[in-house]
Amino acid sequence: MAFLELSHVKKSFGQVHVVKDFDMAIEKGEFISFLGPSGCGKTTVLRMIAGFETVSSGTITIGGHDLTDLKPNQRNIGMVFQAYALFPNMTVGQNVAFGLKVAGKPKAEIDVTVKEMLDLIHLGHLIDRFPYQLSGGQQQRVALARALAIRPRVLLLDEPLSALDAKIRVSLREEIRSIQRKLGITTIFVTHDQEEALSISDRIVVMNEGRADQIGTPFEIYNFPRTRFVASFVGTLNILPGHVADGASGRIEIDGQAVHACRDLARLTGRSACTVALRPEAIRLGTAGDGANHLTGKIEEVSFLGAVLRVRVRLADHAISLDMFNNPGVAPPERGSPATVTFAREDVLIVEEAA
Ligand code: ATP
Repeated sequence: MAFLELSHVKKSFGQVHVVKDFDMAIEKGEFISFLGPSGCGKTTVLRMIAGFETVSSGTITIGGHDLTDLKPNQRNIGMVFQAYALFPNMTVGQNVAFGLKVAGKPKAEIDVTVKEMLDLIHLGHLIDRFPYQLSGGQQQRVALARALAIRPRVLLLDEPLSALDAKIRVSLREEIRSIQRKLGITTIFVTHDQEEALSISDRIVVMNEGRADQIGTPFEIYNFPRTRFVASFVGTLNILPGHVADGASGRIEIDGQAVHACRDLARLTGRSACTVALRPEAIRLGTAGDGANHLTGKIEEVSFLGAVLRVRVRLADHAISLDMFNNPGVAPPERGSPATVTFAREDVLIVEEAA
């Protein structure tokens, strides 16, 4: 049995089914991200684990103990929210001590733990400051220290970085990951930012309309999205309709031009149409190469993105975008000129339309 298990968890608010049959098994010490668009139910699942929301049906267990019906304060779970939620009239030290005081810990023990937690987040020197005297990033680190001070069995982070500016977001996410590794604490991190989820997680749960569309490592989710939703949410620009010419050998057509796929051929079985996903970095401009797929069209647009040039090539009804590394020694392709795009069979992914 896994450390934290959600089994057939459902949640409805009135007639609205917000979480539909959610299953998940999380190992001790794992860092899991829930990734999905606004309103897909990420926060609701987190709140059910914390006990702030009841489940409509299903069970939640930690270490084999069913906590579905326990109150939040009986679950020993730490939570950090998007909007810091520090007590404004308490100092940093008092904020971090709060949960320990409520639990009736002796003062000497509280003092030691508060110091330890503030050292962990490198804010020991700010122990007597009030929240209004701290930056957003500092406040969020204090919120993290407060959540960890009670030595929770599980740490829940609900979009903890979304109120911060881009640079702080990156440094704080690295800090969170390093603290999490140091403590070995089982953590669930909610985000709608794919880059954040890919960079920080052991595994990602991609959520869509109250369901887990796909659960996998960042490598699996990025390289092998199972559904159209997952592919588009983790940044596949090219999602194209295909005509299945010969499903058994993986021969399909895109805008009347032949393409060969070698993965997920089971998704072509018995079908005349399919959905093809192609990553822009897997495509090259060139000529028909050895064994590679090639499609011909015309350069429609070239956008300079800094490290890469994004080139859109018009086929017939559809266009394909590809990324080329910026090379100051090579002139960018010209709009309107004829182009051949090439890509390997392994990079042609066949995805499901829905989970
Ligand atoms: P966001 O990223 O915007 O926070 P989310 O994926 O975390 O989105 P939830 O906050 O879990 O989504 O909300 C899922 C759906 O449930 C939304 O449509 C929301 O309006 C609805 N919902 C959440 N809480 C309640 C409630 N107490 N009563 C009624 N509907 C609710």
